[in-house]
This record gives sequence, structure tokens and C-alpha cells, in this order.
Amino acid sequence: MVFSKLMILFTVLFFWGTSFAGLRPSQYRHISLSKPKIKVRIGDKLKKVTISGTDLKRTLHVNNNHKKFPGRKRIRFNCKSFTRKNKGKITKPILLASVSSQTGLISLDRTKYQGRLHVVTSPSEESCDVIQEVDMDSYISGLLSKEMNGAWPVEALKAQAVAARTYAFYKQTTQQVSRKLGHQAYYDLESSEKHQVAGDFFATTLNTDVATNDTAGYVLVTKGKGNLTETFFHAKCGGKTLRPSSVWSNRVEGYKGVKCPYCDSHGKKNWKETITKARMIKFLKWAKRKGHVRFNNSLLGKKIRLAKDKFSSGNLRVYLGSKVLILKKPLVRRYFGRFTVASNNFKMVSKGKDFRVYGKGLGHGVGMCQLGALDLADRGWDFKKILAHYFPGHKLVKIY
Ligand SMILES: [Zn+2]
Repeated sequence: MVFSKLMILFTVLFFWGTSFAGLRPSQYRHISLSKPKIKVRIGDKLKKVTISGTDLKRTLHVNNNHKKFPGRKRIRFNCKSFTRKNKGKITKPILLASVSSQTGLISLDRTKYQGRLHVVTSPSEESCDVIQEVDMDSYISGLLSKEMNGAWPVEALKAQAVAARTYAFYKQTTQQVSRKLGHQAYYDLESSEKHQVAGDFFATTLNTDVATNDTAGYVLVTKGKGNLTETFFHAKCGGKTLRPSSVWSNRVEGYKGVKCPYCDSHGKKNWKETITKARMIKFLKWAKRKGHVRFNNSLLGKKIRLAKDKFSSGNLRVYLGSKVLILKKPLVRRYFGRFTVASNNFKMVSKGKDFRVYGKGLGHGVGMCQLGALDLADRGWDFKKILAHYFPGHKLVKIY
């Protein structure tokens, strides 16, 4: 295969031209950005990579070999055999190849994307990752269909476009992914529910294009220091939004919890779940292991009771005999998962030996409530007003 001909040249360093990587978020205002790009990991741990298209240009970075392929061409990379052959020599990801097409469209397996594709080794897995390098606004337009709904009103899509663009720039300027991995990651963010789900070329609609173009260059920054921060959004808050610090351990500048009566008439009304005593014991042991509570395991043999709980309470008070444990509610969702505990907006009550969870909303509850944004767009609010409601500590700026 293609890679078997290659020697890995460790003396060669591969730097990609990033638009403004390495700058602190507060420095965005000093940059002139013409057509910013973003690098998104769209393929993860692939044993084989097939890239196809018309009039392809392929660069093999390890020996700086450039080749053009007129007409239709399919290029295959056998990542498994390459990484296996070089086992022990690959200690961090290596940028192997970049492929682009004169047409601007390129396929990974059967899915069509805009921009260029890069193939990078995944050192731990005998496989490769594939990264799409694409204009920021092409990325945003495709994403709107995945993270919201391409058929929704344009003002809701515009609000989503600004939130998603801010998130992407934040990841890029802080190089958060590389810092977390401890090496050059070659991408700014991944296409996943953990970050944001990217759409392929066919995910764009007239509405997503209009929403993206009309908000081109707009991001949210904090009102005080003017910093780019992580912008969060979720499907349905169920009445109120939460601060990042009450859901995760990190404090993020500029956030406030806001009331949102707007999503109530949209999506699933409520949800409920039962948590058995046995699962509750496992949860408490986990919370202890993670350092959130302290108790003597012998107390788990006692009756487990809950103090009277309300939706508005951020904590759960669990009694083991006479010992009380105070647990942040989002720990319940973190442990049981989003399929059991659909949101962080719930109350829990004892039901015999077991426990019943009554919840509202869908998602973590931080930042913009998407069904609320839909409702507000239907009422005639524009995207600026929608964003001002969900991000009262932020303001809109245009950076390109
Ligand atoms: Zn809401």
C-alpha cells in the first residue's frame, strides 16, 4: 500500500498553517480574519481510509511527495499495516497525507465533504484519524442541521450559528484539544456529541446557509473582559438554565442561569425513571471513590432515605441512617448516563426501598435552550435578542 513505501522521518516537523492558533482568546480582536478555517476530526481510529473525488491532489508529508490525479480517483490508505510496521517508532500522531480536489468536494468513504482531508496516525490504536480542514462558515452551515434542525426558523438557526462558531473558535484559539492530549492533535475539535456534531456537504439547507451567511463573523464574548469562552447549548432546559459550575466542576466566565418558560410546549413534556436501591448503593460508592462525599461503607447497610427534594434544588440530600450526604444533582446524570437521567432538571423521591426521579427537559441545561430558541424565533425574536436572553453575561462582536 501507499504507506509501505514511506520512511518515517522523525527529523521532519510538520506544521500546518493555522489561521491564528496559539493566541489567547482575549487576543482575537487583534487578528484580521479573512475566511477563517477550522480543522475537525471526522474519522476516528480507522483501520483503512478511502478518499475519493475528481482531480485530486495528494501530498505525502513524510517524503514531501505531491501528486495530481486527473479525473476520478480513489486513494486508499492502509493505516493498520502502516502503524503496525512502524510500531514503537510512532510515539505521537504523524501527519501522513493531505488530499484535496479541484472541485472543492471530496469523499471519505461514501460521504461528501467540503475542504481538504488530512490523514493522521493514531499512535495507540494501529489506525488513523481523518481531519477535515474547511472554511469556518461551511462547517457552521452543515453543523446546524445536526445540532439543531435545518428546517427551523432562521432566527433560531442564526442564534445556534453564533453559539457554535464561538465554541469552535474557542477550541481553536486555546488549542484545548492539543493541550488535553499533551501533543499536537492536528485538529481543533472533533465531530461528536462531546464537542459538536459536524454535517457533511448534503447537511446544508437554504436556511442553514442563510443563517450562517447573515451571522458571518459574529461570536459571543464576555461583557467584562471581552473574552471568548466556551458557549454551551442543549435541547430543552425544562424551565431554567444552569451555570457550567453547577453541572461540571469548572467555572466559566460570564454565565448566569436564566428562566425559560418558552420550551415547555415543545418536545417531550416530562420524564421519569426508577433507580433501584442496589444501583443507588453503587452510585454512592462511585461518588465516594471520586471524592464527592465521605462515609463509612458500613452505613450502606442502613436505610437510605432522601430529604424532601424540589426541582429548584441543585443538591440531593441522602441520609444513610443519621449521616447526611450532600451531592450535586448533575453527579446523578454523570453516573447513570443521559439515557436514564435525561436532564439535570429533576427531583428525586423515595419509593419503597427504591427511588423515583421526576425530570423536565433534555440535555445538560447550560447555555442556550434550543427548543426555547425555536419558540422565541416563532414569536418574532431575532437572534440577537435570543442570544441576549440565554447569554446575559455575553455580548455579540463581529470578528471578520
Ligand atoms: Zn428552555
